[in-house]
Amino acid sequence: MATLKAVRGTRDLLPPETALWNRIEATARAVFARYNFGEIRTPVFEETSLFARGVGEETDIVSKEMYTWEDRARAASEKTQSLTLRPENTAGVVRAYIEHQLGETGQLQKLYYIGPQFRRERPQKGRYRQFYQIGAEVIGPPSAGSESPLRDAEVLEMLATLLDELGITGWTLELNSVGSSADRGRYNQALREALAPVVSQMCPDCQRRAVTNPLRVLDCKVPEDQPIIDALPRIADHLDQESERHFAAVTAALDAAYVPYRRNHRLVRGLDYYTRTTFEFTHGGLGAQNALLGGGRYDGLSEAIGGPKAPGIGFAMGEDRLALTLLAQEAAKAPLADAYVAPLGETMNAAALQLARELRHLGLWVELGEGSFRLKKSFEAADKTARQMVILGEDELQSGMLTVKNFSTGMQTKVPRAELAGFLSQPDC
Ligand code: ATP
Ligand code: MG
Repeated sequence: MATLKAVRGTRDLLPPETALWNRIEATARAVFARYNFGEIRTPVFEETSLFARGVGEETDIVSKEMYTWEDRARAASEKTQSLTLRPENTAGVVRAYIEHQLGETGQLQKLYYIGPQFRRERPQKGRYRQFYQIGAEVIGPPSAGSESPLRDAEVLEMLATLLDELGITGWTLELNSVGSSADRGRYNQALREALAPVVSQMCPDCQRRAVTNPLRVLDCKVPEDQPIIDALPRIADHLDQESERHFAAVTAALDAAYVPYRRNHRLVRGLDYYTRTTFEFTHGGLGAQNALLGGGRYDGLSEAIGGPKAPGIGFAMGEDRLALTLLAQEAAKAPLADAYVAPLGETMNAAALQLARELRHLGLWVELGEGSFRLKKSFEAADKTARQMVILGEDELQSGMLTVKNFSTGMQTKVPRAELAGFLSQPDC
């Protein structure tokens, strides 16, 4: 029988890497809390029409990457419906905002989420079919200030802070404005005209996009197409005065907060709902999949899925890519337990459990060994899992003086049992 494996594009996360994931999530939660964001958890599947309307029929996500199925009715009162594993979380958050009438509060809603997303993409490093996003949205009625460029700048400043606190060095913030939907309409028209004479020399994807969604041509990564794309009109030249003023206010606030950014005229993002500010944080260490996170403003999204006017701005970070970056930086060396308790002989096992329990109750991270191991084997096991080893034999139990071996200094010390926890919790010097 063939052995069973995780499905292509999915993977198991194992210790010690999961400790890194937990640290990433804990840091994100702590930073979000300081900026007054609260957590939202939406279902992993939604009605397919939410994504078709919210993300856009012409996007790659909706047109070819979604996991969609017909969910059979189980009773006469139910109807068969088309459901989809969420490929992203913003549409679900905005659906919840509408469903729970959060706009009625008159306040800005500042919501964050952490969870798996699903897209049937070609799996490669940094790109999976089940992947994890950490994201946040600021959304509310215009009267709550949801359209203000200050909100954009605050979200970007928060992201710079979060990446710094995670220990990710060398990120770049790429920033652009895709204007209002009217600006985009004019720009799409200009692109269509500019593409008409040259599109036959471009890749098949571009040929399709030139007709269905010309803006998407700017995303093309095919090397031969780049000179053609670089010569296309820029969206910056098609923004109306208000969009221009909005963008200028965002960059002025970023300058004031010393958040560095780079204008990228080709940054349009892969989802149709974006308006005005769009951004990506990239990292050179990631190779082809270099985007750590992406986001932008989506002033028309709520209305597109049947809700009230509720402008907003948000982002989604690829947690898999944050972990990859940190692993590559070695900022995430597998952490070691404080102590390995090694019983000398099987008769010491019970006493060792009691000692480990004492230390664990005092907050130490302890691995418990096994008395049937020879001392050499205990040393080897301890060296792999802990900074220090505590040897517990008959003599130690009687005298109350325990032997502690520190693996980084090589020192062996006799410590009274009452002082053991304090001794073990000292950092190595
Ligand atoms: P990319 O250009 O890398 O495909 P995207 O434009 O599809 O990204 P979004 O839909 O905005 O990205 O998602 C935000 C972030 O989620 C990305 O910047 C990336 O870090 C992460 N991400 C997106 N798709 C995947 C995936 N298949 N596997 C792992 N991470 C992903
Ligand atoms: Mg993508």
